[in-house]
Amino acid sequence: MIRTRIAAALVGALLVSLFTIGCGDKGADGETPQQFDIKIVCEKCGATDVAKVSDALSNLAWPIDCPKCDTAAAYHYVECISCGKPVPQKDPQTGQFGSPENCPHCGRQPQP
Ligand SMILES: [Zn+2]
Ligand SMILES: [Zn+2]
Repeated sequence: MIRTRIAAALVGALLVSLFTIGCGDKGADGETPQQFDIKIVCEKCGATDVAKVSDALSNLAWPIDCPKCDTAAAYHYVECISCGKPVPQKDPQTGQFGSPENCPHCGRQPQP
């Protein structure tokens, strides 16, 4: 019984240290923070592009700069499941990151 407990504790400690190591390579030691690509659409010129961000989408200040027309009018988008067109992830009230209830193109729910 005691042996089983020790074994379980060891396995637990091993898992914890593996987890810590796995998470430890993000931005540690002054390296560049982890970046990821997001799809963006510009509300001004309608261009779609890919932007690199290094923070959670809800932490960023929206809209971000459009690489095509140089205007701060670009939002992350998802493709509408009904019509396939880009749906800007913009809160209609605040203008910040959010998920609209209806697709601006077809009026249906853009996401399942
Ligand atoms: Zn633009
Ligand atoms: Zn749609």
